[in-house]
Amino acid sequence: MSQLATETGALNLSQGFPGFDCDPALTALVDEHMRAGRNQYAPMTGVPVLRERLAQKTMAQYGVSYNPETEVTVVSGATEAIFAAVTAIVQQGDEVIVLEPAYDSYVPAIELNGGIPVYVTLTPPNYAVDWSAVEAAVTERTQLIMVNTPHNPTGYCWTRDDLNQLARLVQDRDIWLISDEVYEHILFDGRTHQSLMTHPVLRERTFIIGSFGKTFHITGWKIGYCLAPVPMTAAFRKIHQYVTFSTATPMQYALADYLSEPSHYQQLSAFYQRKRDLFLAGITNSRFRFIPAQGSFFQCVSYDAITTEPDYNLAVRLTKEIGVASIPVSVFYHQQNDYHILRFCFAKTDDVIQEAAERLSKL
Ligand code: PMP
Ligand code: GLN
Repeated sequence: MSQLATETGALNLSQGFPGFDCDPALTALVDEHMRAGRNQYAPMTGVPVLRERLAQKTMAQYGVSYNPETEVTVVSGATEAIFAAVTAIVQQGDEVIVLEPAYDSYVPAIELNGGIPVYVTLTPPNYAVDWSAVEAAVTERTQLIMVNTPHNPTGYCWTRDDLNQLARLVQDRDIWLISDEVYEHILFDGRTHQSLMTHPVLRERTFIIGSFGKTFHITGWKIGYCLAPVPMTAAFRKIHQYVTFSTATPMQYALADYLSEPSHYQQLSAFYQRKRDLFLAGITNSRFRFIPAQGSFFQCVSYDAITTEPDYNLAVRLTKEIGVASIPVSVFYHQQNDYHILRFCFAKTDDVIQEAAERLSKL
């Protein structure tokens, strides 16, 4: 959709990346570290100062301790972290529970490792987790459950009750967890992020995955990380060592410096809530129907009142005809479905958000 948006000159609210630049202070730090000669391979596990800062931030924010030496690993984006964690756990014939709609890299990583995805559907409009359906999907071959909160594409944010339900389900079973928390700093309307690490039963069996791309407006840097208990981190690092080995050195030093100022990520929810609200105010008199996203920088809308055509057709048509690109939510499901939902990314400049909303309101 980004390619089509570029070809047609459409406003691009499709792929999830900010339509504005990062803080110049952050790029200045990279420059500083490059000039200081920090341009060779970083240690396989990540530069020590960045792992330490990540552990400090995690303790300050969630009150949970991770050892930077043995439980924190810096990798080339959350995508690599997901792949490495899945590869560390999944073997031929293992079943992996995937809540769908699901971010698009989970299932290919599972299938490349010979795993079998077992789907549990989250249904519109609120996409809450149906715990009886998750329980029904568990078998003796269930090896792993994929979690994503705040959720892409729906914006659903897990509650304390969700954590408790998951803990109840896994505590007497040998089931591992991967928790994709790349939007951990983007929650709205006073919500707080419920990281799986904050539940003791879950902390012991979860790979927590984060990414600086979403938090500092640097999706092009592709730097992410994984927090996990010692034996899980050891297994994870065996994969990371032979996928990328290590991650861009000057950026890691720059991020370590930048992380020491908490306001750099603590303001993010307010920053994006204003943008979400701007978009929603702009489409409130349109024929799109929506429940405000709870978190992430995506808003899903139903177009049932406008047309019955499939979402892929509509997304392409709106890009070409009114110059607004979105993502058809059906692509996040493994099977054809008829939900009539589009996902709009509001990590864009205010003028782009307003102009897009204006065009959408004329439909
Ligand atoms: N998980 C989710 C839910 C995402 O939205 C994204 C970003 N598109 C990623 C993982 C990948 O993050 P990264 O760019 O750090 O690989
Ligand atoms: N995660 C972003 C999205 O959902 C984009 C990442 C990608 O295009 N692979 O739009």
